[in-house]
This record gives sequence, structure tokens and C-alpha cells, in this order.
Amino acid sequence: MPLRIVKEGQIYKPVIVCDQCGGAITDARDGNYHWRSDDAPVGGAEVRFTHKNCCDAFDQLNPDCGAEELDCLLVYLANNLKLDWEAAKSRAALLNSIE
Ligand SMILES: [Zn+2]
Repeated sequence: MPLRIVKEGQIYKPVIVCDQCGGAITDARDGNYHWRSDDAPVGGAEVRFTHKNCCDAFDQLNPDCGAEELDCLLVYLANNLKLDWEAAKSRAALLNSIE
């Protein structure tokens, strides 16, 4: 499971975990996302994640996967979810202030 929730102090925080090394990806510029591109299963392909330095090893083990930069995934998701960034940031700031 590449997307997890970890507890830091009193705050529960979502993190993306590299499917190759198991470490957290802590900078969007240091991550890629992958999906099997050889077929299109009903409901879509599972998404997996790697650090940039882990990408080649992952690709060798998973030669049928496509890959893109992690920061692009966040933009695509925000667009597909019709996310209002400013409203979401305000809501997250409010939730963090009361936890
Ligand atoms: Zn890694």
C-alpha cells in the first residue's frame, strides 16, 4: 500500500511510500508514479510509487509499467476532483490548528 497514514505527535499525516525501497517520499520532485500499461483492467490500473533513484530498479522488475513525475499526479488528481486549492488549504489549516 503506497499511501499510508502515520502519526507524528498528535497529528495523523498522509505519506506516499516508495514501492521499491519502502521509504517515504518526502519531496514531490523526488517521486514518480507508475501503472501497468499493458492492459486496462476494469476500474483502472493500480498506482505505485518510487523515489527517482529507485525508478530504474522498479522498471526492471516491472517492465510493463508506464511512469510519470509525482508532482504531475497531484495536479491531475486536483483537476479530476475539481479541488478548490484555497478552500482546501484553509480547511486543512483549520483542522491542524484544533488538533
Ligand atoms: Zn525508494
